[in-house]
Amino acid sequence: MQLVLIGPPGAGKGTIAEKVAAKYKLAHLSTGDILREAIARGTALGVRANEYVETGRLVPQEVLGAVVAEGLRDAKDFVLDGYPRTLEQAEFLSGLPHVELDAVVYVAVPEEVAVSRLAGRLVCTACGGVTNADDGAAESCAFCGSGRLEARADDRLDTVKRRYEVYVAETEPVVEYYRAAGILREIDGTGSRKAVFARVEAAIGPLVACGDDNR
Ligand code: AMP
Repeated sequence: MQLVLIGPPGAGKGTIAEKVAAKYKLAHLSTGDILREAIARGTALGVRANEYVETGRLVPQEVLGAVVAEGLRDAKDFVLDGYPRTLEQAEFLSGLPHVELDAVVYVAVPEEVAVSRLAGRLVCTACGGVTNADDGAAESCAFCGSGRLEARADDRLDTVKRRYEVYVAETEPVVEYYRAAGILREIDGTGSRKAVFARVEAAIGPLVACGDDNR
């Protein structure tokens, strides 16, 4: 199964993608995670991407395209989270060998919900687990029990606003592109993680029943 998760910053794409990958045994590719890791390690990719990620702008496709092509090279079944974010990227993706998307899950949340989730988001420095200050997150991680919790550098309010504007200008057209292609599955991304994941399962469950054997 080949899936894309799309939605505004704060929609919960990363958390959903992890659960989907585990449940349906898919490779999980997150361009945001790849870029943050590259920045933390100071690789050539990280050095080029840093100014964009820090300020909430999109890393140019000529920097990111090769990373995605390489990440998907051997993956038959995958969930992509954070890519594509522009029409140019959507066209690049559909041109890659072996890529034939089964569905694009659009996780819809209103701007105020997205912004308030990001304002309270805390990420574990050890395991990457995501919690929210509003859920009464403690000082150490509830998932691994040992990591420190930190806000993401690009979750500052001014950067969040920029990211949302970029989403509306660049990524909403991609949602419409996939809607027109007939593969968009829209779900309500508000409410608890459990409720949202149940909606995701309802949206993609029928695809699993069809299986990849038909391809
Ligand atoms: P995310 O973790 O998906 O919210 O991504 C964090 C940041 O990484 C974004 O604000 C962008 O600066 C960069 N980024 C991630 N995915 C892409 C993409 N597909 N195209 C361009 N920049 C991206």
